Amino acid sequence: MRGYAFPQMNEEPGRPRALTHLPEDLLDVRHTCPNCSTSFAPPWLERMSSPMVPIKPDNYEGPGRWVRLTLSIRCPSCGGQSEFGVPYVKMKTRCIFHGDEAERQLSEDRILFSYSTVGADPKLIPEINQAVWALKREFSPKLEPKSWRIHTKDLLNGRWRRKQDRFKEWDESITRSFFERLEKLLCSMTDVFVFNIVNSASIKPGIEFATVRENTKEEAFRWLLLFMIDNLTRQGCQPHFLFDDDRKSDGRRGERNWASDLLVDSQKCLLYNYLSRGIEIVPPHFVPPGSEPCLELADFVSYVVARYHYTRWLKLQLDYDPARLGAITYLGFGASGDLRFHRTKSYPWELFYGNDPAS
Ligand SMILES: [Zn+2]
Repeated sequence: MRGYAFPQMNEEPGRPRALTHLPEDLLDVRHTCPNCSTSFAPPWLERMSSPMVPIKPDNYEGPGRWVRLTLSIRCPSCGGQSEFGVPYVKMKTRCIFHGDEAERQLSEDRILFSYSTVGADPKLIPEINQAVWALKREFSPKLEPKSWRIHTKDLLNGRWRRKQDRFKEWDESITRSFFERLEKLLCSMTDVFVFNIVNSASIKPGIEFATVRENTKEEAFRWLLLFMIDNLTRQGCQPHFLFDDDRKSDGRRGERNWASDLLVDSQKCLLYNYLSRGIEIVPPHFVPPGSEPCLELADFVSYVVARYHYTRWLKLQLDYDPARLGAITYLGFGASGDLRFHRTKSYPWELFYGNDPAS
């Protein structure tokens, strides 16, 4: 299994924040200087002066892009420049991914974020939308399915439901069966790709809770995006991202800023050329929460995975098992900080936490 290792290199202050991990298969790559024959690791994470993205020349109206196939890198020994080849994959498909998150406080000093993306070929999205709307219509026939959103945390909260006129008839068993049907729906969609990342952190003395919360959330968001870019462009797929608009008035930065920083910062790194393989990655779009059925599915997946962690952590009885959602590519961090991933039906707890039931 391939993972992403923490590189023990380039700790200089100007290092881009966006990229901190390297895909494991790049750890052994060496470049030999043609002038002095020194063999060295390419400066994967060093920031170049401008973003290295596919370009469209001025006065050119066609559909193509100019893609960089080699980059000039500097030898650390003699200072000579030489050309270093970067991969290029021809784009074959597109996929639109919808992302949403769930948050859980595991204990007084431990917080967890679960981010999920649900995506498919743009041609399949209308079909998925219809299936979700049909299910919503079946359970709430009097309501227009687009007029309410599946916000899992609220819907599973009996007190919240009783306060809502439109969900008054949803008792425990109706609610349970709605979510069982949603599980089955996700399971049946074999052409839909689902990714999930969990990141948790403990609050250390002297660091504000809000800071830890924001960093933990941003790290999850960033790594999910970079992993997906790497994973999808490898197969010639151009990912498009659509996220819940989280614009807040409290001055926090949020996904909108993280996404633009991520692209601008990482595009200046040699590593980005490897991850994107000459396929253009457009900045994510932000839409109102739950406004797309795939966002509602992403909310549900994030909830189930966060809930799973919560029940295991507190040694409670398991009520929602991610195994019922079908195959998902799960990402998480190992004890050493490495990013790990596995596409599987049951949650790969041991991969991230070892054998400790609540590590
Ligand atoms: Zn040299």
